[in-house]
Amino acid sequence: MHSSCFSCGSTIQSQIKTLYGYDVCSSCEPTLGLYKDDTIRKHIASYEKKREGVPENPTYVQEVDYRLGAMEKTYILKRLKLLHIQNRLKVIEK
Ligand SMILES: [Zn+2]
Repeated sequence: MHSSCFSCGSTIQSQIKTLYGYDVCSSCEPTLGLYKDDTIRKHIASYEKKREGVPENPTYVQEVDYRLGAMEKTYILKRLKLLHIQNRLKVIEK
């Protein structure tokens, strides 16, 4: 199987791993800014502290799920617009 780093395009297979469905090389992985567990725990604590006054607000887990869903919708919308332009260019430019 041939895979390439989504960020730099490297195809050195021994240095590429798959992270949540995306191929990334060992050089780019440290630049992604992925949080360590301790940082995530701090975020949870900070979030939950703000939420104390409004318990009906979403939990941290729900908030992360929501953000991922919203981001996915935005991504699809922007991609559809560009795909449409790309498709129309084939017709218009002839
Ligand atoms: Zn890379």
